[in-house]
Amino acid sequence: DRETGSSPFLEVLKDLHSQYKSLQEGTVANYIPELAKVNPNLFSICIATVDGQIYEVGDYQQLFTIQSISKVFIYGQALEDHGRDYVLTRVGVEPTGDAFNAIILDEQSKRPYNPMVNAGAIATTSLIKGNGATERLNRLLEMYRRYIGRDVFVDISVFTSERSTGHRNRATAHLMLNFGMIDQNIEEALDLYFQQCSVMVNCRDLAVMAATLANKGVNPITKEKAVDSCYIKDILSVMYTCGMYNFAGEWAYKVGIPAKSGVSGGIIAVVPGQMGIGVFSPLLDGRANSVRGVKVCEELSQRLGLHLFECK
Ligand code: GLN
Repeated sequence: DRETGSSPFLEVLKDLHSQYKSLQEGTVANYIPELAKVNPNLFSICIATVDGQIYEVGDYQQLFTIQSISKVFIYGQALEDHGRDYVLTRVGVEPTGDAFNAIILDEQSKRPYNPMVNAGAIATTSLIKGNGATERLNRLLEMYRRYIGRDVFVDISVFTSERSTGHRNRATAHLMLNFGMIDQNIEEALDLYFQQCSVMVNCRDLAVMAATLANKGVNPITKEKAVDSCYIKDILSVMYTCGMYNFAGEWAYKVGIPAKSGVSGGIIAVVPGQMGIGVFSPLLDGRANSVRGVKVCEELSQRLGLHLFECK
């Protein structure tokens, strides 16, 4: 365990880690064959504060693919590339109440419901600017670098595993192509989507990315601006209402802070003006959220009084 500052945070994290490490509920994601190989016991929790302190426990250096947590950051990039009004014509901001990979579009507008589910994320990914596939990928890797503070890479095994089995996402992309919601080459958009999901991060990276959002878009460790502060409210609003899929309402009620989960078992949570939280544990519940991750965040929110509407 590691501490780069003095605070009761580390004690709370150690407590939660030992309390939940024996919890064995849930199953690892197996619809992407490579993800099924993960060690289900891995478990780490990290807090990064906006003044640059880091508190971490467990397997915090373990790398894993970021999966759906990428959707948050790609949405920010799409907003920077095209502005709010245009992005809103391509993807809505309405929670679905359905599974993350549901093949559904808004009846009337034909837009995907929101950028935090697969349909909406594939649409936002297709908006990323760049001259050709390589430049678009490099722009996303460069964006991740600003949030994390180091270079990141795509895990080729997970990427090819998902590309060769991702028929559901391919079907979703075809449906959007049918309604003119995606206009670039959809195989290229899907490749970029699978690549953005296959970027390797550790739990500490998740906390720093979340802390960057908590810190108006400025990485609190490197002080580099990762995203224009004018889009922070867009990003955090959709995280708050849609970030935990069909558990988003209950999460908003119980935990009360913007968050995003991914099928590899990561969760990020953002306490604006205060801190970013990262949790990693691959065992997932029926809605594809990390079982221990949800428990840890519920309890952290309670113990530290993080709920946005807490009366203090
Ligand atoms: N790459 C995954 C998919 O598209 C991401 C899903 C997730 O993390 N919920 O199915």
